[in-house]
Order: sequence, then structure tokens, then C-alpha cells
Amino acid sequence: MYPFQYHRPANLAEATALLGKLGEGKALAGGQTLIAAMKLRLAQPSDLVDLGGIAELSGIRADGDAIVIGALTRHADVAASAEVGKRIPALARLAGSIGDRQVRAAGTLGGSIANNDPAADYPAGVLGLGATVVTSRRSIAADDFFSGLYETALEPGELIKSVSFPVPQRAGYAKFANPASRFALIGVFVCQEKSGAVRVAVTGGGNGVFRSAELEKALAASFTPAAAAAVKLSADGFSGDLHASPEYRAHLVSVMAGRAVAAALG
Ligand SMILES: Cc1cc2nc3c(=O)[nH]c(=O)nc-3n(C[C@H](O)[C@H](O)[C@H](O)COP(=O)(O)OP(=O)(O)OC[C@H]3O[C@@H](n4cnc5c(N)ncnc54)[C@H](O)[C@@H]3O)c2cc1C
Repeated sequence: MYPFQYHRPANLAEATALLGKLGEGKALAGGQTLIAAMKLRLAQPSDLVDLGGIAELSGIRADGDAIVIGALTRHADVAASAEVGKRIPALARLAGSIGDRQVRAAGTLGGSIANNDPAADYPAGVLGLGATVVTSRRSIAADDFFSGLYETALEPGELIKSVSFPVPQRAGYAKFANPASRFALIGVFVCQEKSGAVRVAVTGGGNGVFRSAELEKALAASFTPAAAAAVKLSADGFSGDLHASPEYRAHLVSVMAGRAVAAALG
């Protein structure tokens, strides 16, 4: 690990001011990705701005037809939340499927989506539910937030404050997990909004989370596991590695979509 300066601001204004003046400074949330990258000398921030002391960034609250989750809220707290479990059970199950107990006790919603790992679970939930990411500067629709491999619309020094998830009519998530890390070889989040519109988000397939127009069309016509499983996707654009070929990943999308719809239908 390279040397760095440590800061622990007491509120968001202090944190953004610090990040504004520290050129190579980085926010620290659960540290599950950032600290590992620093230990491996893959990241060399001059300063770490620890968000852990900022109470306003944590918590889960109902806001009309949405649930608002603070950026610093741990995966374990989302998984255990009665409010999330009652109104968006698919999101609680998604959070409970991340990594292991230790990762869920430390990792945060904001850290996960700011990092935008191409096999992470939360990006599928955020995009699938059509959520809104609220930052220290603006509100960003999920469709505009994830912009590529480990890339997001966040600008330097911009911090995620919370994510607002509209409560859907029904939703489901299914992933084929890497047995070691639990990251998604393929994860599919399906959502039928209160309006009836269908959104489908896929993670683990390539350079980042994406929506599947084919699955959305099929499920808008018939929101059934059979309709999802009948969609055959081309392997073009899917990634291949030692874990799975592009063809296998493309096949898994339909299988996981079918399971996600079954979960949504209860
Ligand atoms: C063994 C292991 C297994 C895992 N398995 C899974 C899995 O199955 N599924 C899955 O989805 N994830 C998995 N993860 C990732 C984990 O879920 C964390 O959520 C993720 O690593 C980042 O969250 P964090 O809070 O630890 O962020 P950090 O590591 O602290 O930060 C990550 C990045 O986000 C930035 N950041 C953090 N908070 C904010 C904010 N509020 N605003 C702007 N930028 C911010 C940081 O500056 C940094 O660049 C795993 C991790 C480990 C170590």
C-alpha cells in the first residue's frame, strides 16, 4: 500500500469541500473494493475521505411511492429491512445475495454503484427498478448513471447521497453466482412497474449492466417464466473468460430471467 492521508469529515458539506481541494483524494465507504485495490497497489489515492462519520448518508425511509436508501447503508441492513422486504422484496433478496456476511456487513449501496463492477448485483437492481441516484450536486436517472466498465456519470468530487427506488407492482432477481465470490456470472432483475411497463436489467454479461430490449418486449406481452425462457439472445457482445463463454452467458440470461419472473410472481 502506498502512503496516504486520512480524513473523517462529520458532514457531507465537509466531505465535498475536502474532495474538491484534494486532487487525488477518494471517498471511502465500506472499503471492500477500495482498500483491496490499495493493498494491491492498483490504486494510489493521495487522501482517503472516510464517509463513515456522516450520519445523513445512512438509513432507509419510505417517501410516498418510493423507498429512499442512503448511500452508506450496508448490504446487510437493506437485506434485513422490514420496509424493503415488504415493499420491494426483490431488492432485499438481492442485497442478501451479495458476497458473504463480512462483505454484507461492511459494503455499501453507494460504494457498489459508484464502483460499477460489471458483475455487481446492485447496478441490476438500480437499473431494473428505474431508480434515481441523488448526489451532492443533482439527481441522475439510472438509465443515465451507468456508463461502462467501472464507469458512471459521477464527476470528480461528486458524492452519492442516496438512491430513490420506485415501488414496483412486482419485481424479481435471480443470479447464477460465482461460487467463490458470489459475484454474478449472470444476474437478471425483472420489474413490472405500477404502470404495467416492464424493465429488465442484466449484470455480469459484459462491460457493465444493461437493459435487454428483447426480454422487455417478451415480458410486456406475457409476464411469465415461459416467455422469458423462450427469448434466445445472441452471444455477440457478451464477455467470455475462464468461468463462462459468451454463449453460456447469453443462454444464462434467459434462464435467470425465467427464474426472476417466477420469483416476482411469488
Ligand atoms: C470477497 C468479496 C465478495 C464480493 N461479492 C460481491 C457480490 O457477490 N456482489 C456484489 O455486487 N458485490 C460484491 N462485492 C463488492 C461489495 O459488495 C462492495 O459493495 C463493493 O466492493 C463496494 O462497496 P464499498 O462500500 O465497500 O465501497 P468502497 O470500497 O469504500 O469504495 C468503492 C468505490 O466507490 C467510491 N464511493 C464509495 N462511496 C461513494 C459515494 N457515496 N459517492 C461516490 N463515490 C463513492 C469510492 O471512492 C471507491 O472508488 C464483493 C466484495 C468482496 C471483497
